Amino acid sequence: MLQTYEPLVVRYKGWPRRPKHTTHTRASILETRRSCRRRMHPLPLLLLCAAAASAFPADSKANMDVDYEKLATKYLETFYDLKPGGATVSRKKTVNPYTEKLKQMQEFFGLKVTGQLDAETVEVMEKPRCGVPDIGEFRTFPAVWQKKDLTYRILNFTPDLSKADVEKSIERALKVWSDVSPLTFTRIYDKESDIEISFVRGDHHDNSPFDGPNGYLAHAFQPGNGIGGDAHFDDDETFTKTNRAYNLFLVAAHEFGHSLGLDHSDDAGALMYPTYSYTHPNEFNLPQDDINAIQHLYGKSTNPIAPTGPSTPNKCDRNVAFDAVTTLRGEMFFFVNRFMWRKHPQEPEPELFFVQTLWPSLPSSINAAYENPYSENEEVLLFKGSKYWAISGFDLLRGYPKNIYGLGFPRTVKAVDAAVHIESLQRTYFFVGNQYWSYNEDTKQMDKGFPKSVQEDFPGISGQITAANYYQGQLYLFSGRIQYQYDLQSKRVIRASRSNSWLGC
Ligand SMILES: [Zn+2]
Ligand SMILES: [Zn+2]
Repeated sequence: MLQTYEPLVVRYKGWPRRPKHTTHTRASILETRRSCRRRMHPLPLLLLCAAAASAFPADSKANMDVDYEKLATKYLETFYDLKPGGATVSRKKTVNPYTEKLKQMQEFFGLKVTGQLDAETVEVMEKPRCGVPDIGEFRTFPAVWQKKDLTYRILNFTPDLSKADVEKSIERALKVWSDVSPLTFTRIYDKESDIEISFVRGDHHDNSPFDGPNGYLAHAFQPGNGIGGDAHFDDDETFTKTNRAYNLFLVAAHEFGHSLGLDHSDDAGALMYPTYSYTHPNEFNLPQDDINAIQHLYGKSTNPIAPTGPSTPNKCDRNVAFDAVTTLRGEMFFFVNRFMWRKHPQEPEPELFFVQTLWPSLPSSINAAYENPYSENEEVLLFKGSKYWAISGFDLLRGYPKNIYGLGFPRTVKAVDAAVHIESLQRTYFFVGNQYWSYNEDTKQMDKGFPKSVQEDFPGISGQITAANYYQGQLYLFSGRIQYQYDLQSKRVIRASRSNSWLGC
């Protein structure tokens, strides 16, 4: 039995361009990835969907001829256990299974629960996604290992990496889970282990053939005897230890979650989210959602200090504070650790992205960012510590990162807290602690007489400036979760509000 989920057309139309009224279609974390397909399998089969961080701008072939009713039926059959024929057959007159499943889907995605196939619902259904159902038996009855000390064996190696790098990636991926749980993993060589790891391609005799490059990256089986717990990696993929193609450590860490009994999470920041997203392995911290999930199955870690991990930011959390804010070709970008909200002026809802999905070489938790209208390539400069990067659209410009001291900062400055180019002054302001610098983009020099005191020159603002933005002729200075709309001429705060008021909260 083979059920194929047709890859849907990605509706993203590319990077916005000036002028600001450009046609724009929203993109999301999901839309940066290719869809994957589900096939029925006697064992609960858990797949890691393919991702293509480089998929921007995505296929923009028109999807005019899509029959949305058909699409929705197929979607609900695949992911919400709508029985074939359920769209038309109803035993009870009052309950239409199709409508019920549609409501369930709308609830899952936080949409308005109407039971109607409205535009918003279609939009979500059109997003590429993993093939594992959102509801399924295995979610209620997860399989777990009945022991804490598990063994693994590496049956073969991919030619993409040295043996040592494969071993390191696997060890590190298992450590992700042993660090936060009472589980231990011991490598064995000469007899069958709990978690048998292999690189295979095409049909490899487990009723779940791989599909060549992209598509499925890997799959793993729930705890159990025989094939249970085993992890298979599609050797038609290119596995790396960098941000190219698919980082083996990240793919393996996700798969081992399945080997231990976890299913997919709907938390977009979780490791167990169905789609691949790149994080620099050195910056990887297992998200709290995954920690909670594994501890739910196996109990707390034996570590005396309870391990904690990052949580996906909630845009309407009262305490949301941005690391940096910038415009980019008429849109606004709000950075928070690994994430970024992208807000188009004509869209009420911002979209959440992983920063490294768009720009794999950028670090997380940047300190400051600004758009430089003087630059040839419509650049945005991003700062972290004593370094800064320049991006233009999806490209990271060559020759970066550069050192901030080249801009004229003294060595005593270790990082920039906020940066903003103020068009009306034709100056870029850099905020550092309780001081600020003024930079002339024409002469590429700091103005004389700086740094100056923020307190003296920006009366009415209390607290350190942590982010800044200039938008439609207005200066916005952020101090943690408060933002100030500031009038430069009268030198006063026009309005103070919550920082996340930009995000539709
Ligand atoms: Zn998975
Ligand atoms: Zn397999």
